[in-house]
Amino acid sequence: MKKHSLNFGDAWEYAPAPDSTPVVIAKSYGLFIDGAFVSPQSRKTMPTINPATEEVLSKIAVASAADVDKAVASAKKALPKWKRLPAKERGKYLFRIARRLQERAREFAILETMDGGKPIKESRDVDIPEAAKHFFYHAGWADKLDYAFPGREAKPVGVCAQIIPWNFPLLMAAWKIAPALACGNTVVLKPAETTSLTALRLAEIFQEVGLPDGVVNIVTGAGETGAALASHKGVDKVAFTGSTGVGKLLAEMTAGSGKRLSLELGGKSPNIIFEDASIDQAVEGIITGIYFNQGHVCCAGSRLFVQESVLEEVTTKLAIRMQSLRMGDPLDKNTDVGAINSAGQLKTIQGYIQCGKKEGALLHQPNHRKVPKKGFWCRPAWFEGVQPSHTIAREEIFGPVLAVMSFRTPEEALKRANNTPYGLAAGIWTDKGSKAFEMASQIKAGVIWCNTYNRFDAASPFGGFKESGFGREGGRQGLSAYLELV
Ligand code: NAP
Ligand code: MG
Repeated sequence: MKKHSLNFGDAWEYAPAPDSTPVVIAKSYGLFIDGAFVSPQSRKTMPTINPATEEVLSKIAVASAADVDKAVASAKKALPKWKRLPAKERGKYLFRIARRLQERAREFAILETMDGGKPIKESRDVDIPEAAKHFFYHAGWADKLDYAFPGREAKPVGVCAQIIPWNFPLLMAAWKIAPALACGNTVVLKPAETTSLTALRLAEIFQEVGLPDGVVNIVTGAGETGAALASHKGVDKVAFTGSTGVGKLLAEMTAGSGKRLSLELGGKSPNIIFEDASIDQAVEGIITGIYFNQGHVCCAGSRLFVQESVLEEVTTKLAIRMQSLRMGDPLDKNTDVGAINSAGQLKTIQGYIQCGKKEGALLHQPNHRKVPKKGFWCRPAWFEGVQPSHTIAREEIFGPVLAVMSFRTPEEALKRANNTPYGLAAGIWTDKGSKAFEMASQIKAGVIWCNTYNRFDAASPFGGFKESGFGREGGRQGLSAYLELV
């Protein structure tokens, strides 16, 4: 194993350029039920913090089972009128939401970065525009469902319980809410405990555009709030994005209840570099694949397979590229690597890094930049000398930790790529179209990128195989999750 000791020092530093647009954050937020912000019956609140500074941003209501009951009742009450509304009118609401999101994009981007720790250039260029796109895309579908499913009658499922994680807080809310509303359902959304602020601000947009009361309700809180929502008798469908562990619990909870269920779960996706690939381009793809959003990405390319003949070149270039990543203030537009979302997640990631070292893999972390004193930070990391049996090659880390392995033949790459209980995504880097198609047809994953990574589009269905879940979000396939087709 080679020691990558290239050090480019601090020769290339930019002056700080933080986005200083003021964003007003209330001292506390209630639950959004029946079109209004209300205090929780539980009277309980929890702080939401900025993971880059550990500063408390606001206090968020913790919904109890009684609060969840109120939210479900509100969604149920709103359902008959909402589903009878001419589809074109439903579409207009979605168009209005999309436009308001675009108009308020900067404020949302800053808030997302403050509450979640991701670099502003990601929330500004990916999270918020993609969320707006989801509303636009589904606005267009609202009055065309008969064309999407010719010969069938498309009816809404009813009240949808939607539970989302913290890695793309607003985007996940948009992925869930937009298709549900386009199809004539009503919603109770449960954001993740550490990142509720942008979903609550989206509720302000619902008020601004005059979305009928009760069509979307938002209950904040922890896991118990999610469990109370998913198990509520008034719910017709549960849509969940999060860990495979909680997904399994929900599958048990909803079994035999008649509730529809869709699950978007974890991943351990392979990113495969063949010797005929454009190596410089592939190295950029590795960086995007695993260090985007600090690796807090369900489809992160966390298992890198490099053809043996180019392993040395790829790892040398990777080591150089990693030295140029800027870690620091997420509000600074030059920042590449932001803060880890929570103290708990940081501990989990650090545990995996220790485990990788203990099991005999060689750790590399660029070390020339200072780690901020406050907040939750993890230097981007990659491991060489990883064996398929190593924990870091098998388990989802959900952090900026890459396991680098090599292969000799396409058959071997394929076998090793599929050797996982997950099947969310994969990347293939090659100059040969036929090789890309051959591999793509045999890798068991919901999304396969060729010569790119981590690209999303509202029209393209996203979802997993095996323990990565079932059901699709986005595209025509995503609509069917919110419809009874008769
Ligand atoms: P998580 O712990 O499963 O939490 C997801 C959501 O479920 C949160 O809102 C959480 O609330 C809630 N929850 C927790 N326990 C629950 C229970 N017993 N019943 C009902 N709801 C419950 O996952 P996470 O740590 O937030 O997110 C990371 C995971 O999400 C990773 O595994 C990642 O791969 C996966 N993910 C998948 C996709 C995809 O599209 N496939 C996309 C993004 C993320 P609290 O926040 O209050 O705990
Ligand atoms: Mg937070």
